[in-house]
Amino acid sequence: MKKEINVLIILIILIFLIIGFSYFRTNNTKKNENIQEENNNPFQEYSFYQENNLNRYLNYQENYPNLSLKDVILRVNMNLDHSFYTQTKEVKEFNPLMIVNKYNYVSRDFTPSNLVKVDKFAINGMLLEENCKLAFIEMASKALEDNMNLRAVSTYRTYDYQNNLYNNYVKNDGVEEADTYSARPGFSEHHTGLALDIDNIKTSYTNFLKTEEFIWMMNNAYKYGFILRYPEDKVEITGYMYEPWHYRFVGVEIATYMKEHNLTYEEYYYEFLDK
Ligand SMILES: [Zn+2]
Repeated sequence: MKKEINVLIILIILIFLIIGFSYFRTNNTKKNENIQEENNNPFQEYSFYQENNLNRYLNYQENYPNLSLKDVILRVNMNLDHSFYTQTKEVKEFNPLMIVNKYNYVSRDFTPSNLVKVDKFAINGMLLEENCKLAFIEMASKALEDNMNLRAVSTYRTYDYQNNLYNNYVKNDGVEEADTYSARPGFSEHHTGLALDIDNIKTSYTNFLKTEEFIWMMNNAYKYGFILRYPEDKVEITGYMYEPWHYRFVGVEIATYMKEHNLTYEEYYYEFLDK
């Protein structure tokens, strides 16, 4: 009888030991899993991930659950989680790849390097940054060989010029509407000397979409380093309505890449050039 009780006690102790051990094991695995989860921040995989922005990425992801991780990071880095014209940053120096948009502006006295006259394929008094001008003349000459007429109708603009333009639009349409098609002074890409509006001489630039020249530009502009800056399907990123007439010079290599990947300049810039 005593022997049996002893065996029973030993058995009970053994059972407790087994239960205790397995409890300890599962707990430990859980702990490891938690640690792994903490270290496994999926945003970190991207070269343009910025640790300071982590909370903004998480909030943006919650608001836009269908966006890829990459797009969440890029859009937050662009500042798209803030309203246009808030959290703005001054771009102090001219750079041929500079970005000027509703978050990045230049000061009133900013002047692009190497501004030159556009002496062909332009209305009077047009100025552009030199390399942009050379590329435009080359493009317009090639277009003419295909019987296409490209003409620069608005190029470099000063702060004061843009200020007048914008204020007039506001007077007519109000701030909200004016903001969809016109930049506030300092925020205009025209101020960089790297952007221009084009018509085909025969019809107003606002009807450029309906011209053969527009189709030619869609097929050929990138070969000369120009991109359609405000495309129809990127309005929420650029903050501008579709502008078939407005082109930005970024060089052949970048323009080609952007065309192949259907990117607007914000997407390209914040993936590859943001430092
Ligand atoms: Zn324009």
